[in-house]
Amino acid sequence: MPAKRINIGNVEITSLSDGILEFDLCNFFPEIPAEDWQPYHDYLTADEHVRFNLACFLIRSDGQTIAVDTGLGPKPADAPETPWGELLNDLAAQGLRPEDVDKVVMTHAHRDHIGWNVRSQDGKVVPTFPNAKYYLSGIDWDACHNPDLIESRFPNAPECLYPLEDMGILELMEGEYAITSELTTLPTPGHTPGHMSIMISSQGQRGLVLGDVLHNAVQAHETDWVSRADIDPETTRITRRYLMDQLEKDGTTIAAVHLPAPGFGKIMRAEGRRYWQALDI
Ligand SMILES: [Zn+2]
Repeated sequence: MPAKRINIGNVEITSLSDGILEFDLCNFFPEIPAEDWQPYHDYLTADEHVRFNLACFLIRSDGQTIAVDTGLGPKPADAPETPWGELLNDLAAQGLRPEDVDKVVMTHAHRDHIGWNVRSQDGKVVPTFPNAKYYLSGIDWDACHNPDLIESRFPNAPECLYPLEDMGILELMEGEYAITSELTTLPTPGHTPGHMSIMISSQGQRGLVLGDVLHNAVQAHETDWVSRADIDPETTRITRRYLMDQLEKDGTTIAAVHLPAPGFGKIMRAEGRRYWQALDI
């Protein structure tokens, strides 16, 4: 089992998980014919589904604890068997409490990245991480208020994002935004208009929390394969092509939210094909 914790210079990243989510191929990649998956069966489950881990990366930097993304959220009362809803259990397994998180950074405003932002306690909505300030790109904040997009693209934003502003604990980010002296956002638009990855730079070492630039390892090579979740397909492709080139060239260590847990790896190349290499540590 690969390690759940890595270091990039002085920065420590622990991979927590809220669980998994699974779709069949024609649902999630409706434009990719089944035969195009022929060389890539290893990237699918035995019954040809795409499976997503729902990672929350817990980062220690400058003496602060930063949670990147908060999964799908609590199990619905009428569906306690859901394979997600595990984030707080996983946090506790690391010996940590929600009170220990200083900052929550969202790569974007989709429902599987904001689910644990708040929870209900005695009939009141409260922040799940009571001492944290929450960070989201201003562009996604605007997008998740667009009446044409709320229902189809940001269905839980009214419940999981809007209250943060009323509580006075939401900070909107633009462009390259310094979260700590070692963590800076990198706009990677397409999947959502304000999608952000997070660059890590410490002691001469570099890393990147990727967000949803990749949903499946196949896209490291098939950079043009967009899914139904990518709001702007052409911008998604441009961002992904550029980033995969750079990450391959630089050998940067990546933390990828939806690739198999713990989601640490690099972009490599063999026999003319770029691929995702999970870290073996
Ligand atoms: Zn996602």
